[in-house]
Amino acid sequence: MDQATGTVFNIQRYSLHDGPGIRTTVFLKGCPLSCAWCHNPESISAGPEILVAESRCIDCGACRASCPLDEARAGTGALPARMAECDYCGACIDACPTGARQMVGRRWTVDEVVAEVLKDRIFHEESGGGVTISGGEPLLQMAFLRELLPALREQGVHIALDTSGFGHAEHLREGAQLADLVLYDLKAYDDQRHRILTGVSNWHILENLKVLDAAHDNIWIRVPVVPGFTDDPDELRQLAALVAGMRHVTRVNLLPYHRAAGSKYTRMGRVNALSAVQVPSPDDMQRAAACFADLCCPVQLGG
Ligand code: SF4
Ligand code: SF4
Repeated sequence: MDQATGTVFNIQRYSLHDGPGIRTTVFLKGCPLSCAWCHNPESISAGPEILVAESRCIDCGACRASCPLDEARAGTGALPARMAECDYCGACIDACPTGARQMVGRRWTVDEVVAEVLKDRIFHEESGGGVTISGGEPLLQMAFLRELLPALREQGVHIALDTSGFGHAEHLREGAQLADLVLYDLKAYDDQRHRILTGVSNWHILENLKVLDAAHDNIWIRVPVVPGFTDDPDELRQLAALVAGMRHVTRVNLLPYHRAAGSKYTRMGRVNALSAVQVPSPDDMQRAAACFADLCCPVQLGG
C-alpha cells in the first residue's frame, strides 16, 4: 500500500520556539484562518505557491521565456509571483539562473519526513527536544498525521502538535492522542473580534479547547501579542479566565509580534496589511503577561 503524503512547505531545524528543547518543526501547508499578522503567509493556501526575491533577480527574462502561458510571453521583465493561469509546472523555477524564484510547498511521504527529522536526533536527545508539527493547520491533513505521528513515535521522537484548534473535535482528539504535547493557539475571546482578525468564528476553537483539556494532559496555550490587534487588556483577561478554568494547561506562551515576515509578503506579490505595526515593547509584554499571572496562569514571554 502506498504511504500517505502531506504537503509540506518548510522543515525548520534547530527551532527553539515551538516546544521544549531543540526542535525540528515540520510546517504543513493549508490553513482555514487568515490572521492579519500571519508570520507564514505562504502557509495559508493549501496548494503550491511561487516566491520571487527581487534582490536576486538579474532581469534576464529566462523565466518568462520558459513559461507556456501567453500572458507571460506578452509581458516583459521578470514574471510576477502570481499569475491567474499558473499551474505551477515549475519551468520558470528551473530556468532561473540565480535562484530568485522559489516554489513553496511539495508533497512529502511519511518516510521522507521521518528521515529528515531523524537527522536532528542527537540535538533532540541532548536538549530534551523533538519534532513539532505545525502549519498552516496540521488537522487539515489528518490522513497524513495518522501515519506520520505513529511513525515518529515508533522512533522515540518527542512530538508536539501545534494547532489553531479550528477543526473537527474528533480530529483534534485523535491528533492530540498521538502527540506528547499540544500547542494551542488563542487569538481573541470576542467572536466578532476574532472574525475580523482571522476571518473565522472562534466558537469551534473555544469549544475544542474543552475537548482537548479532557483528552490530553499537557497543553501549552499560545497567544500572539500584536499591538492594536490582540493586546486589549479586557480581551486578554477573558482569555486568561478561560485558560484558568482548564485542568491541563501547563504553560501559556505570549508570542510577541515580529516583522520578519514582511519580505515574504513582498516575495509573494501580496500586501502586508500590518507593515506599519510596531513590535510590542517589553512593557507591553509585561502588561499582557500580568493579565494571565493575575489569574495564576503559568505564563511565559516568548516560546
Ligand atoms: S510555474 Fe509554470 S505556468 Fe507558472 S509561471 Fe512558472 S512556468 Fe509559468
Ligand atoms: S529568470 Fe530569475 S533572474 Fe531571470 S528575470 Fe526571471 S526571476 Fe529574474
